[in-house]
Amino acid sequence: MRILVIGAVAAGTSAAAKARRNNDSAKIVIYEKDGDISYSGCGLPYYIGGEIEDIDELTPRDPLFFKKKYDIDVLTRHEVLKIDTKSKKIIVKNLSTDEIFEDNYDKLVIATGATPFAPDIKGIDNDNVFFVRNVQSARNIKNFIQERKPKHAVIAGTGFIGFEMLENLMEDEINVTIVEKQNKITPNLDEDMALFLENALLKKNINIIKGSSIVEIWEDKVILDNGKEIESNIVIMATGVRPNVNLAKEAGVEIGITGAIKVNNKMQTNINDVYACGDCIETFSSITSKPVYRPLGSTANKTGRIAGDVLTGGSLEYRGNLGTGIFKLFDMAIASTGLSEKEAIEEGYEIVMCHNIKPDKPDYFNGKEMVIKAIADKKTRKLLGVQIIGYEGVDKRADVFATLITYGAKVDDLFHLDLAYAPPFSTTKDPVHYTGMILE
Ligand code: FAD
Repeated sequence: MRILVIGAVAAGTSAAAKARRNNDSAKIVIYEKDGDISYSGCGLPYYIGGEIEDIDELTPRDPLFFKKKYDIDVLTRHEVLKIDTKSKKIIVKNLSTDEIFEDNYDKLVIATGATPFAPDIKGIDNDNVFFVRNVQSARNIKNFIQERKPKHAVIAGTGFIGFEMLENLMEDEINVTIVEKQNKITPNLDEDMALFLENALLKKNINIIKGSSIVEIWEDKVILDNGKEIESNIVIMATGVRPNVNLAKEAGVEIGITGAIKVNNKMQTNINDVYACGDCIETFSSITSKPVYRPLGSTANKTGRIAGDVLTGGSLEYRGNLGTGIFKLFDMAIASTGLSEKEAIEEGYEIVMCHNIKPDKPDYFNGKEMVIKAIADKKTRKLLGVQIIGYEGVDKRADVFATLITYGAKVDDLFHLDLAYAPPFSTTKDPVHYTGMILE
């Protein structure tokens, strides 16, 4: 069996590694147009801020690693130009030599990922404008900062990448303004929680401009749609990503309503022996079963593993996701899982909800405030979604809530959970217990 994979970051390498674990005789080849493979995109902002000194720490595996450990050939700087699903062939260009050649497959995995969205802004192609996506983009930003020593920066977008970049540019002693087109920050938070976060950031003297878009970028300033000018020597665009679907679309692979590749729960596309996984596919919500586009590393790894398993005869199936996510911002952590209040109402639920504000630890262990917003279905009492802003232990609570929602827990179940307790970690009644008590 000959397995070809397109893309060698999270999803493609997971698919290939799982295929090899299941089948030790298949020939497996990954084509990757970039020079770097299997890197942690999630760590890139921390390299720019200096917490990670050597970028090689984010790219621990190279093609030699995959050859030695898995007998997988990873061909970097090789772009797949076309897929012919009738003759089961792909056309590849070696970007180092310009040679174009064909390769044939029995099974094909499309793991082409996503590309940052570039809004239509005058000056967006200037050399002081950056997107954060791959290792080279992080190197470029780092080099620019070291060579030009910018004093002022503007970041567009208040999603997790925008905020991670804010923190890390401030580490480089750059004065940063973050600009958000919407009237509230952070897409995954409801308005009340977004406002809470915004107030916490204002106390830290963070410059936030909401309800405005950048319309022009210059070498030393950006201009907003309200005419306001902000001093800026470097601009980071963190305005979301779009799935890379053109190659698949041209080959007749069906695209879903979110604009990403449509797959079933085995990662099979509409075309025989063509699989897709990672940031190029749409998945589905495990609460509503509706299609969603959630480009996250956690999901990319999982869907890659499922594709690799199924194409080698395995029985793994995707069970949907809650869009669980978390990011760090200075000493704070912000997490969400499941439906927001807005989404739950749009889905037609009659909801009950609470805002539970409790310390994460006892006072004598310097406990700090943790705010938990929880949303449940009034009729079934099932938990639907949770948003948390706090300092320590936010990840633990978010994961407990994600697990609860996954297994259909009801509000009344929360108090009865037997959670770990010792004063350095939590209070005797954990914030999760209190959430259930308040929601009752
Ligand atoms: P990609 O990483 O996009 O890789 C796809 C690869 O396919 C690319 O290398 C591309 O060059 C290659 N390719 C595309 N077309 C072709 C072609 N025609 N021929 C050959 N090769 C091709 N996720 C989290 O869960 N948690 C986080 O904290 C988090 N933080 C992040 C922080 C940053 C700054 C960034 C950028 C992302 C972060 N993510 C996070 C998201 C995570 O990195 C992505 O979800 C993940 O990288 C997706 O992996 P992928 O393999 O599907 O796609």
